[in-house]
Amino acid sequence: MNRSGEFRVYAVRYATREASSGEHFYGGDPHDAPMPMDYFVWAAVSEERAVVIDTGFAADVAVRRGRRHLLCPTEALAEIGVDSRGVSPVILTHLHYDHIGNLQKFPAAQFVVQEKEMAFWTGRYAGRPHFRGIIEEEDILYLVRENFRGRLRFVSGSEEILPGIEVHRVGGHSAGLQVVSVRTGRGRVVLASDATHFYANLEQDRPFSVVQDLARMYGAFDIVRSLAGSSGHVIPGHDPLVMKRYPPARDGLEGVAVRIA
Ligand SMILES: [Zn+2]
Repeated sequence: MNRSGEFRVYAVRYATREASSGEHFYGGDPHDAPMPMDYFVWAAVSEERAVVIDTGFAADVAVRRGRRHLLCPTEALAEIGVDSRGVSPVILTHLHYDHIGNLQKFPAAQFVVQEKEMAFWTGRYAGRPHFRGIIEEEDILYLVRENFRGRLRFVSGSEEILPGIEVHRVGGHSAGLQVVSVRTGRGRVVLASDATHFYANLEQDRPFSVVQDLARMYGAFDIVRSLAGSSGHVIPGHDPLVMKRYPPARDGLEGVAVRIA
């Protein structure tokens, strides 16, 4: 039984791809060894409610971008008892394609976005080559439209979303990237999303290769470290090790969903 305001936290793996280490560090990696990348969404679940963090991408986007889609994130969420059709809020860590697909499968959700992130993707640099390639236009357009229906909750900096769940803007990888800290039975867990794609980025102080502001990426490392009680309380955004370090959410969900706290 969880105490009120304490959440169980799950990571759900919905896609993966082969890759090499040179792709994952700003300036490359001299060893350039195989280093696959997983794609996740996360859920925080208490006795009273569920919150979803990010919404993944769909199978057609996976085909176009050469990723291996394992299942729709909403199917995996259903396996851990989270119905995407009813859940709210949904926190969007940032608006890159691998974090905000499938939005229409969350029809009841209020989407929590950092004001700076939304401003960036509707602003002057969004269409430049480096940036426009890492979003799906339809996802951004969906959010613009739903904003007129009152479905976006804009936040700026650090805010409590509900008791036990806070967001913190860190920027760096994207203009308004936010991390999510969740109160759990084993202390505060920081869902770092792309503030650190892999454990190695943070541990070795080596930012990832996709950059909006390099200095802020280092700053994001500092913020994540200060929020988390220990390195064991940080969950990176794309590291296959997450599936190895934590147990399956339940029998039968090996390789699909793990329980982090
Ligand atoms: Zn990502």
